[in-house]
Amino acid sequence: MIANLSRLPWKAAFWIALGALVLALPFIVLLTGERAPSTSLLWDFAMGLGFGALAAAGLQFVLTARFQPVTRPFGIDIVYLFHRYFAIGAVALMLGHFAILYIWFEDALGDLNPLTARWELTMGRIALGSFVLLVITSELRKTLRIPYDFWRYGHIALAIIAFGAAVAHILGVGHFTGEADKRILWLGVAVSWIGLIIWTRLIRPFLLWRNPWRIVENIPREGGVHSLVLEPLGKGLRDWIPGQFVWLTLGATPFALKEHPFTISTPSEHGPNVTLSIKPLGDFSEWAAHTHPGVKAYIDGPYGAFSIDNDPDAKGFVMIAGGIGITPMMSNIHALQERSDPRKVVLIYGNKDWESAHFRDELAKLEGQINLTVVHVLENPPDGWDGETGFIDRIILAKHLPEETRNWPHFLCGPGPLTDVVKSELLEMGVPLPAIDSEIFDLV
Ligand SMILES: Cc1cc2nc3c(=O)[nH]c(=O)nc-3n(C[C@H](O)[C@H](O)[C@H](O)COP(=O)(O)OP(=O)(O)OC[C@H]3O[C@@H](n4cnc5c(N)ncnc54)[C@H](O)[C@@H]3O)c2cc1C
Repeated sequence: MIANLSRLPWKAAFWIALGALVLALPFIVLLTGERAPSTSLLWDFAMGLGFGALAAAGLQFVLTARFQPVTRPFGIDIVYLFHRYFAIGAVALMLGHFAILYIWFEDALGDLNPLTARWELTMGRIALGSFVLLVITSELRKTLRIPYDFWRYGHIALAIIAFGAAVAHILGVGHFTGEADKRILWLGVAVSWIGLIIWTRLIRPFLLWRNPWRIVENIPREGGVHSLVLEPLGKGLRDWIPGQFVWLTLGATPFALKEHPFTISTPSEHGPNVTLSIKPLGDFSEWAAHTHPGVKAYIDGPYGAFSIDNDPDAKGFVMIAGGIGITPMMSNIHALQERSDPRKVVLIYGNKDWESAHFRDELAKLEGQINLTVVHVLENPPDGWDGETGFIDRIILAKHLPEETRNWPHFLCGPGPLTDVVKSELLEMGVPLPAIDSEIFDLV
């Protein structure tokens, strides 16, 4: 779904190499570890799968810790995608580890009854069950209709239980970890992960709590969107680039983990206040969109890399948005306006009808101020409409995107089916893959 895997290739390569090292660490331990005298290759392979699984699982804490140096080169959507696939990979390795032992070394699994079984083997089974549950509840959250907040709390609790049980299992079983230095290494790894959890769940929320914001304005927009203007009561955000987003907490403390991502729709040149434009789509956004000035808020960010600033040499920009996917485009367009940037922007914007076209008046005004062409595409156009109709398709793209735009950066944001279709059409039209970048508003 996402083409432009890395927006900052060298930094991305560094983090990928570091991730690979973390994954390789258990295998180094395995290769240099003290082997039991009479083990077979298959047995060692099963152990290797177990170690690899734990390394891949442990990496998840880093991927979800939202360290800006890690997220910035990729964009947080890509980082969450890594998280998702690595987690599935980790569970596949664990199942492989268990399956080999179950089929060829059943005696090693011992008694299944937790009351009489060896504790370290029970720990292994708890870890396996918890990791499987983690993946199933995440992949099927929407099908199972699990409310997001409930899922998130459960996800964190299960992850901690699963990882703790897995480390206890490895140390308790003691294969390849019998020597003191190996045990110290594993304990060190476990302590580092605990440190990460303390940072993400306690220290960072504490820092956010010490630095509150306040809503100073709530501006109703077209299509039911509300723009909340927030002012920092303490320190403002450190410089943000256009197209970035923040995690917003309203009506709770940052410790409650009830934060939601929203794009900053004003350029950093307008700081320190930030504006978030919110479309009421569910419980939180409905409530947030209607909050009044004076309400306290907490902001964690900035994150993301869906930005014109990643292509300083671009000759122009193509932006294709659907519905509320317009917010990062507004942020980037405002930055061009603020900087009196003469480069051309072609914005193709799809909506159900004219009423739901957010920011349509502002876009019309901006067309007169900067080198911007807006093409509205309406599924249900009003009487007398002479613009584009239906869905954004190959004919519309070819009509409004002349040959000279092919190598310009293309930004896509909107419902999944829209970005998927548009991306494949653009590729067929000859737009190179690295020139297409898409933002996902649905991280899980
Ligand atoms: C990078 C990014 C930028 C975004 N920018 C904007 C924006 O500028 N304007 C805007 O209106 N919307 C934006 N969104 C979408 C917005 O975050 C969701 O619409 C909002 O969180 C939905 O929450 P809800 O409780 O109102 O709806 P619900 O009905 O509870 O949730 C709808 C869906 O939103 C997702 N979601 C819910 N809560 C969260 C959460 N805490 N974290 C992540 N995803 C969640 C889930 O997939 C859920 O199924 C953005 C999303 C992302 C990922």
